[in-house]
Amino acid sequence: MQFRDLQKQYEALSGRMSAALLRTASEARYISGPEVKELEDRLAAYVGRKHCISCANGTDALLLCLMAWGVGPGDAVFVPDFTFFATGEVVAAVGATPVFYDVCPDTFNADAASLEQAVRAVVEEGALTPRVVADVDLFGLPADHDAVAAVAEKYGMRLLEDAAQGFGGSCRGRRNGVFGDASATSFFPSKPLGCYGDGGAIFLDDDETAAYIRSLCVHGKGSFKYDNVRIGLNSRLDTIQAAVLLVKMDAFEEYELEAVNRAAQWYHQALEGVPVIRPVVPEGCESSWAQYTLRLKDRKERDRVQIMLKTRGIPTVVYYPKPMHRQTAFEGNRIYVPCPVTDQLCDTVLSLPMHPYLDQETVQAVAAALGDALA
Ligand SMILES: *Cc1c(COP(=O)(O)O)cnc(C)c1O
Repeated sequence: MQFRDLQKQYEALSGRMSAALLRTASEARYISGPEVKELEDRLAAYVGRKHCISCANGTDALLLCLMAWGVGPGDAVFVPDFTFFATGEVVAAVGATPVFYDVCPDTFNADAASLEQAVRAVVEEGALTPRVVADVDLFGLPADHDAVAAVAEKYGMRLLEDAAQGFGGSCRGRRNGVFGDASATSFFPSKPLGCYGDGGAIFLDDDETAAYIRSLCVHGKGSFKYDNVRIGLNSRLDTIQAAVLLVKMDAFEEYELEAVNRAAQWYHQALEGVPVIRPVVPEGCESSWAQYTLRLKDRKERDRVQIMLKTRGIPTVVYYPKPMHRQTAFEGNRIYVPCPVTDQLCDTVLSLPMHPYLDQETVQAVAAALGDALA
């Protein structure tokens, strides 16, 4: 059993994929080829933003937004304590200070009350300027962006949506990638929409910022590539990855998003009566199920269950075992608010095999094994 079966996906798409790969190879426009623009236009329309700018990976997508906004030393960027390292890493990379806030136990996403408490603590201390709030569509589920945006607005900050795991998720008809002043997504192979390597994109509406980010992606280019007007990066999506994503996007829209939601429904039903807490999707929202994540009683039970499933050939992963504020790289950073929910989630979460090519028998086998492990 695979945790995320990318091989099955390849087999399902192999005909179209082989043709696309050979075509881009033979066209030999490996950087900024026509597929890149085609993909960007298609993704912007899908998400509902004016601009989509593809780049080398999701981490760069976040970083480029902070660079474009001039975030740097002396600035505070508020980051959920329960997320992948990159959300906080990019803040430190531009010389700013990540300030961690807690998440909600049921959705795993931003807790606006904890965020506001962290902002107040920073304001009271007076050492840092609150500049940006990052929130994350963790495991594919949209964060409560309206509540977070209200706090961001109240304190004059920008909102950066980390939609690296969230492509395809939505809330009341608004898709992930559309929230905040800018959004970043990732095409890492195991994300809801993944390529055959690293890739990422930024979504935003503001023309001026979009032009600035396009310049940053190509060594801070001015009127052409060898006119360099600022310090940027080399951060582009390869043409061949764009071609891969165009084929994958067909499948994503045609059936994958639907199929992964069906798999979540199967899990939900099959786990009824099993003493675990199933993931919660708030009314009006839809997840793209980057992960299907359970909560168990405590770390001891979680670790025991994980080992028992492993002996039965069922792969599971702990996303995430360590809060951001406890990462060695952030040792010495001041803690502005306690994050007890994150601490508890890190002890109790367990993500099950999840992807659009799961069948119902496999889901039932996983649920049965879980039931046995907890009996
Ligand atoms: C994967 C991920 C990133 C980084 O994306 P890469 O493409 O791997 O650089 C950032 N934030 C979150 C929440 C992620 O899951």
